[in-house]
Amino acid sequence: MTHPPHDTGDEQPRYYRVVALTELSDEMDEIAAEAGTWDGYAHAVTGLEVDPYVASESEDSWEHLEAARANAEEHTLWSQAHETFTGEVKRAEEKLAAARAAWEQAQGIYTAALQDAWQDYAPTEAAIRERREEVVRMRERRAAEERQAKARAAQEAQAREDAELGARTWVTFEPELNPRGRKKSPDMYLPTIHLAGCPVTKGREDDRRDRQWHYARAGGVQALLLSGGPLASNGSLTGKRAPVRLCGRCKPHDGIRAAGLGAALDAWQAQVDAIQPPIPAERSLRKRLDLGADWRGWNKQRSGYVEVLPDTYREEGCVADYEFILGWWDAERQSLVPAEDRLTHLEQVLPDRGFAVRRFIEPKKFGGGLCQVGVAVRVMKTGEARQRREDAAALAAHQEHTGPAQAIPLEDA
Ligand SMILES: [Zn+2]
Repeated sequence: MTHPPHDTGDEQPRYYRVVALTELSDEMDEIAAEAGTWDGYAHAVTGLEVDPYVASESEDSWEHLEAARANAEEHTLWSQAHETFTGEVKRAEEKLAAARAAWEQAQGIYTAALQDAWQDYAPTEAAIRERREEVVRMRERRAAEERQAKARAAQEAQAREDAELGARTWVTFEPELNPRGRKKSPDMYLPTIHLAGCPVTKGREDDRRDRQWHYARAGGVQALLLSGGPLASNGSLTGKRAPVRLCGRCKPHDGIRAAGLGAALDAWQAQVDAIQPPIPAERSLRKRLDLGADWRGWNKQRSGYVEVLPDTYREEGCVADYEFILGWWDAERQSLVPAEDRLTHLEQVLPDRGFAVRRFIEPKKFGGGLCQVGVAVRVMKTGEARQRREDAAALAAHQEHTGPAQAIPLEDA
C-alpha cells in the first residue's frame, strides 16, 4: 500500500505502536512525576505503523497494545527526541558510575592510609598501655596495703580492748521488739547467751547491720544473768522480767562459771529454779501424765482418772491457777468417787514424771475437810525436778555402796 506525501493535506491518518519506557531509573521516575508530565510510565513512539483498533495480539492475550497517531514530521521529531533522551540519560549514568568508581578508589586509599598510620602508632600505644597497667597495679597494691593496715589496726584495737575488758567469749541474742512480728509467746523477747562460735548464731555477731546479735564479755554476761530480760504479750512489753536463757546447744554454763561468774550463774539458776511452769496444753499433759489405760478420756462409760473442773476450787482459794485436779471416775455410778488407793497411786507415780501432787482441803461450803475425790497436781519447778533427780542419784549411789535397803516385813493390818 502506498500513501500520498504528508504535505498533501488529504492523506489518511497514520498510527504507530507506542511502548512504555519501563526501565528508567527511580530518580527519573521521581523527576517525571514531580514535573507532572507522567502517568505511571513515560512512553516512546516506535517505527511500527499499526491498525489503531487492534488492542491485543490475539483474543486470549493479556497484553494491551497501545498506539498513537502521528504524521511523518511528528513521527520523525518524536523518534529523534526519544533518541536524544536516551543518550542524555546514558551519559548521566556513565558520569555517575565514573564518580562512584572514583569515590570507591578514594575510600580504598583513605583506608590504606589509616592502616599505615595505625601501624606507625601501634608501638607507642602498646608502650602507653603497659605503663597504664603499671599504675593500675600500683593503685591495687596501695589499696590492699591500706586494707591490711586497717584490718591490723582494728585487730590491735580489739586486742587492746580485750586485754582491758576481757575476751569476747560469748554472743548474746537480744530480739528487737516487733509488735507486728510473729513472736507471740511471752518469753520470746528474752535474751539468749551463747558461747562464741556456737552453730546456732551462724556468725551473725559479725554482721554489723544485725543489731540483735552481739559479742559479749564477762561484764555483759554477768549483767544479763543478774538483770534478766523483758516478758512480752503480743509483741509489747508487759513490764515483767524473767531470767535470760542459756543456749541448749552450746551450753555456756561451765564457761561462765570458769570465767569467775559463778555467783551470777547461781543467782540466775535460783531464779530459773523458782519459776512455776503453767499447766501444759491438753495433749501434752495427757502424754506427760502417762496414766495409760487408767485415763478415762471423753468416754464416760469407762472408769478412770479424769481432770476435775477446778473453777470453784480456784475461786475458793483451795488450788492455784497453775494447779489442776485429778480424780477417779466410776462408770457404774457415773460420778467421781472417793478412791483413796487411786489418789495414793497418783502421789506415788506422778513425781517421777515431773508433777508435784498434794491433797487439799475442801471449801467450807462443801463441808471442809480433806478432799476425798481429788488431788491437786502441778508441773514441778525446774529446781524441784532437779533436786528430785539428784536425791534419786544420791540414793542409788548410797545403795550401791551399802547394798539394797533391807525390806522390813509389814504386819497385816
Ligand atoms: Zn549456742
